[in-house]
Amino acid sequence: MQLVQRATPVIVFHYDEIGLKGGNRPRYEHIFLNRLREQLQRCGVTVEKLVLRESRVVAIGAAPLSEAAKGRLARTPGVASFGSGVLLPRDASEQEIASAARGFAALLQQRGSTFRITAHRADKYYPKTSPEIERWLGEAVGQEAPSLRVQLRKPENNLVVEVLHSSILLWIREDGVGGLPVGASGDAVCLLSSGFDSPVASYLMMKRGVRVHWLHFHAAPATGEEAREVARALAAHLAQWSDRKARFATMNVFLLTKLLIKQAQEKMRVVLLRRSMMRLAERWARQLRAEALITGESVGQVASQTLSNIATITAATTLPVLRPLSGFNKNEIIRTAEWLGTAPLSSRKCDDTCAMLTPRHPATKTQRETIEREEERIGIRDREAAVFQTLEENNLNEEGEED
Ligand code: ATP
Ligand code: MG
Repeated sequence: MQLVQRATPVIVFHYDEIGLKGGNRPRYEHIFLNRLREQLQRCGVTVEKLVLRESRVVAIGAAPLSEAAKGRLARTPGVASFGSGVLLPRDASEQEIASAARGFAALLQQRGSTFRITAHRADKYYPKTSPEIERWLGEAVGQEAPSLRVQLRKPENNLVVEVLHSSILLWIREDGVGGLPVGASGDAVCLLSSGFDSPVASYLMMKRGVRVHWLHFHAAPATGEEAREVARALAAHLAQWSDRKARFATMNVFLLTKLLIKQAQEKMRVVLLRRSMMRLAERWARQLRAEALITGESVGQVASQTLSNIATITAATTLPVLRPLSGFNKNEIIRTAEWLGTAPLSSRKCDDTCAMLTPRHPATKTQRETIEREEERIGIRDREAAVFQTLEENNLNEEGEED
């Protein structure tokens, strides 16, 4: 991008649903700004200042984004669209604006063969209407780069021109994932295994503004180190879209698995373990003041995920249990995991705490009363306090690694 005089390099960010929050808007905008500040830092992008301008965030004095940085920002919850470009003062002349647009020509050519201009006027007093601006600057860019063709629908390049009250912005639009910035909707604990589903479930809730903390259950020495390492790596990977307050913890449920194998009716084991997991997760959630639990369950995927078992498992906790994957097919989940970058970790084969207990014919219909009687009979709830003592808890820092 060639800079003209009085043009300052910027990155522009538009938020998605914050606009719907009415009176809460300043609070949400503040959270959005903070998440972007962290993300730019993590991407190694230095900026002179980060400001909120007329419902968008502008990173002033920012270097152009690398592909890696774009990938991270495209997955950052709350970002509807973003892109590198320039800021001109509000009193810029037509000549200055046209040369700023022409300054994008070489870059647009590198990025593809089609483009469009999308103009918005916050300031309706600007003498040209949006369609007029689009035609005018479209021609200016076209003259500079004859190989570029205008394509209004799905162009490879979308050069956005925003005439604001305070300034004029020109930037190349990249799609964001939308939703709400992490921290806007409170905290929740996700029960994180080493499989495909729970990391995707975590991310879907992060995208709704929830700050997710991760809890992994292992059964050492019956299960190996690997599942724990994978879960830790998954949490670290997901934490790159969260803030510094996101935590990762593990608990050792070996005591419970031993008891279940020895004493419980085989077909009930998995549901019994799941209920214990819910109670243990609730305990940790209360410590963190988290208001909900999240799981990667999907209706009908495995025996413990029939509606009747889901009901029995949910009844073990008084916290709401969010199951964002309830209606997802496995291939949809895997596709999202690939987009998120969690798939390579989740596809590693490792011991599974639940698989250890799964009989050939697990119960698909359970009743709460029957399960409660079994819990009473084997005394599983008495063992949970000791299991909770095995809690190992860590912050996930800037780089998404443990402190
Ligand atoms: P996933 O792909 O997330 O492992 P799954 O399809 O293997 O899910 P299950 O093993 O039945 O399904 O687990 C259902 C949910 O229970 C998981 O999505 C996760 O939220 C939770 N869960 C299962 N195992 C563990 C574990 N070892 N630690 C923490 N949570 C777990
Ligand atoms: Mg699993």
